[in-house]
Amino acid sequence: MIELRSDTFTLPTPAMRDAMVRAPLGDDVYAEDPTVRELEELAASTLGKQAACLTPSGTMANLATIMAHAPRGAAMLVGAESDIYIYEAGGAAVCGGVTYLPVPNQPDGRLLLTDLAAGFPDDPDDPQFAVPALICLENTQNRCGGVILPLAYLAEVRRFADERGVPVHLDGARIFNAAVGSGVDVAEIARHADSVQFCLSKGLGAPIGSVVVGDADLIERVRRVRKMLGGGMRQAGIIAAAGIIAIREHGRLAEDHANARRLAEGLATIDGIEVDPASVQTNIVMFRVPEHRLTRARFLAEAHAAGVALAELGHGRVRAVTHSGVAGADVDRALTVIDAVLNGR
Ligand SMILES: *Cc1c(COP(=O)(O)O)cnc(C)c1O
Repeated sequence: MIELRSDTFTLPTPAMRDAMVRAPLGDDVYAEDPTVRELEELAASTLGKQAACLTPSGTMANLATIMAHAPRGAAMLVGAESDIYIYEAGGAAVCGGVTYLPVPNQPDGRLLLTDLAAGFPDDPDDPQFAVPALICLENTQNRCGGVILPLAYLAEVRRFADERGVPVHLDGARIFNAAVGSGVDVAEIARHADSVQFCLSKGLGAPIGSVVVGDADLIERVRRVRKMLGGGMRQAGIIAAAGIIAIREHGRLAEDHANARRLAEGLATIDGIEVDPASVQTNIVMFRVPEHRLTRARFLAEAHAAGVALAELGHGRVRAVTHSGVAGADVDRALTVIDAVLNGR
């Protein structure tokens, strides 16, 4: 199977497996797992923050960080196409008592400052209105096609938030894709946010885990919420060992980006596919299959039966994600299969 549904299907490399076997371990709830501490120090220094906290998933990383930033009854501004709003089971509301204030994502992923400003009440002293306690951004922005938020835009949001005394949380599940895709150091992106979470378990290729980075006080609060949520893990060095390698070797994401471009350029030549190769900035390709020839469900099922797994992404869109388990030859094979499904009858 050529697995293009998600970069979460990546399997740990032999070097990761080896490191997992050999990792020195301790009880991380006592902060005594040396491998977790090494991972957290590496994550903090790589993203240019004081401290870091390993969590079992990106969902928990976002939730623990939101709860560390915002008290019960607070509101937060969040993209209407964001993972936090769409895919995280309403955790901020259910567990944190935090109200979501969804803001439309532009096709390039941004939340317009005018839309963010509209989330703030004219009279902040009017007790009817919650003053937003947090702004959440996502970079890269998955449902907008893995697009990269420009640094100048992040700086604008930073200024906007500072003027209002509100922290910024960056859901950087794929922040290393953003860094590699735009050729900047990841710390240059992280610098505009008070907190960042990133996934070790997507394109970076580790089997499990996400990391939150931020200043030491915030990370202490994140750690406490993580414990409450059941995310305090004991000999977690087993997974941290793979995470260390994942961070050190993030440069390999460039291959995934090249494969995504190659896939999009190939798709553009196939009769029956709508795609804009110029919109592909990282490892995600979004395209449409107009339904006059076969239904999207049938297209996906036939492609799957022929060995190519693709994801339905809503609004009539299909998503293909490249990762370490997809080689250049697999991209070419996937194109042949997709062409045959659409035009080979
Ligand atoms: C995958 C993802 C998450 C959640 O990570 P899990 O480890 O699957 O819980 C959060 N945000 C974004 C943008 C993601 O792509």
